[in-house]
Amino acid sequence: MNLSKKEIIDILKSDDTEILKEADKMRRQYVGDGVHLRGLIEFSNICKRNCLYCGLQSQNKMVKRYRLTKSEIFDIAKNGANDGFKTIVLQSGEDDFYTTDLLCSTISDIKKLGVAVTLSIGEKSFDEYRAYKEAGADRFLLRIETTDENLYMKMHPYADFHNRKRCLSDLKKLGYETGTGCLVGLPGQTLESLADDILFFKELNADMIGIGPFIPHPQTPLKDEPHGNLDLAVKVMAITRVMLADINIPATTAMESLRKDGRLLALQSGANVVMPNLTDEFHKKMYEIYPNKVSATRQELQENLAKIGRYIVSDNWGFRFK
Ligand code: SAM
Repeated sequence: MNLSKKEIIDILKSDDTEILKEADKMRRQYVGDGVHLRGLIEFSNICKRNCLYCGLQSQNKMVKRYRLTKSEIFDIAKNGANDGFKTIVLQSGEDDFYTTDLLCSTISDIKKLGVAVTLSIGEKSFDEYRAYKEAGADRFLLRIETTDENLYMKMHPYADFHNRKRCLSDLKKLGYETGTGCLVGLPGQTLESLADDILFFKELNADMIGIGPFIPHPQTPLKDEPHGNLDLAVKVMAITRVMLADINIPATTAMESLRKDGRLLALQSGANVVMPNLTDEFHKKMYEIYPNKVSATRQELQENLAKIGRYIVSDNWGFRFK
């Protein structure tokens, strides 16, 4: 479905929640009732960036930093694969310790487990993205965060908005299943700019979209700002589903962290993916992008999904184009 910017803004403004039902209908029609699980490994919380909202920003000196070794990463991936996960997501801050060679050998080892590999490691050069792809990476997640260039510059000191867009276009060119997304509720963000975010997802023809409500972290400059509105974030997600019918959309952890039923609400409003955290408890606590980040086990998810007539997909890798 194609919606104009004005139509999107009208839906975002109104109290009507019909769009959530429409998104649920389209989700069932285009991607079915199965839910794909992506097992997340947060392998380093070291980051050279200073995103104002993120607890891992380099200026936060209170974070205890860690890096997992290649064999630690592999062991977590192997356990995940043994537990039935068909995708392993490798996520980190922007940490240059992991050279291209190190990342490529980590990726190719994990690929031998018979899983899809998704990377979420930030902005890199075309050649680096190409090397990871050649090593076997299948997907890449890089949220644009906001398409409002002024807001982007305020939120990301010294970062380059155009480079972030270049990265997304390179990822598409290289044949990655490309994921992007935005934060909802950043200070100064407007409904107009959220509508532009959705139009950007459509223009990029993104294969995956993650929408997360902003949650203030007490050790960042945005600590006193209000958190994003969950219902608005779910609406942005639902509009994204109706505009990009066949893509993969996660019920994001930030949604569940903000409200106990956030994940199920998202899954009934267009989402078809969940990303359980496979990182060990010790390191998971240190990967605090925002406080009270929740996580759920496969078993808990299975039980909750059954309550809404959904199930975990276990017989395919959950690519957009089958
Ligand atoms: N460094 C990689 C990157 O830039 O894509 C991946 C790691 S980054 C921590 C993953 C995502 O966390 C970001 O895309 C951002 O949207 C989200 N995030 C960070 N701080 C957040 C906050 N305070 N509230 C909600 N989401 C947040």
